[in-house]
Amino acid sequence: MDVPCVRVRPSEGEAIRRELADADLIAEEFEITVSDGWLYVPVARPEAVPPGLEVVDYDAPERETQTTPADILGFEPSYERLGEVALLDEDDPERAAEIARAIVDSDLPLETVLNKRSKIKGETRVREWAVLVDGSADGRPTETVHREYGCEFALDLAEVYFSPRLATERHRVAAQVAAGERALDMFAGVGPFVIPFAKRGAECVGVDVNERAIEYLRENARRNGVEDGVTAICGDVRTVAAEYSGWADRLVMNLPHSADAFLETAVTLAGASCVLHYYDIQHEDDPFGPGERAIRAAAEPEYEVSVETRRTVRSYAPHELNVCLDVRLERRE
Ligand code: SAM
Repeated sequence: MDVPCVRVRPSEGEAIRRELADADLIAEEFEITVSDGWLYVPVARPEAVPPGLEVVDYDAPERETQTTPADILGFEPSYERLGEVALLDEDDPERAAEIARAIVDSDLPLETVLNKRSKIKGETRVREWAVLVDGSADGRPTETVHREYGCEFALDLAEVYFSPRLATERHRVAAQVAAGERALDMFAGVGPFVIPFAKRGAECVGVDVNERAIEYLRENARRNGVEDGVTAICGDVRTVAAEYSGWADRLVMNLPHSADAFLETAVTLAGASCVLHYYDIQHEDDPFGPGERAIRAAAEPEYEVSVETRRTVRSYAPHELNVCLDVRLERRE
């Protein structure tokens, strides 16, 4: 059966396989195959494969030993994986229960199943979850440890925001970080930007108004061996900014829908030369215009503003896109 596979030379195979496994991208139900001097690694979400890797359709054999949820259900269910937790977005409770059972009865290493019960809401952007199967050893089904591109993140979905879907985007941004630079995430959560930045040798500050997110950020810094490179601050970034005025070489603003209200703060934090990663959700007719205009209004004429990347991260809703602008701010003399 033709499935999307990353095609690499066998000499690079183990490193690439590990990178894909860390990002939870390998389609476990198919065999990794060598043919004609190439290694074919089946992938579950081809759109999430890091740029630079070649994805081709290849007739990969199914793994005979693995029973998948689709084998049990007779259809391919849709779910995300977060550590050992499966995340569903099902409106019909009966269908949700059927999928949940199939997931835990399959051979996948998923023990707990949660279903979205609300939209993300409030200042902390946390959503409510219905626990369909609790396979946790400690009665805390919403807490897990998720691996992403070689980093580990402990988190509790009932208390903090986290989306495994943004893994490729975070990896793209982290790849731009150089050792020694000063990076500040204004809405840091449990650290999915801060931790990989610190692993690349950046001096990092993560700010979040959610106390539990900051506790997890500190724990995650320790877990990943970068506690010396991470300062985690609980508070409203508008209040914290004065302490770090003119400090940052890089700023991350992942608070789509409201980031524009924090651009003055971003300008306060920016050093003489600073890259800003600005996330936004806008109509597909003009997904980048509102963000770019807001950044220019906040930073000009003090800074020269140049947009380095306009990137669509994912589709958010019908006709709405989640986008990122990478913007360089150069202070004028
Ligand atoms: N950067 C993380 C990520 O990508 O997973 C978290 C992003 S989440 C969309 C936004 C975060 O901003 C939440 O954790 C929320 O608690 C935090 N937040 C909201 N308003 C804030 C404020 N005024 N100051 C600091 N953090 C804030």
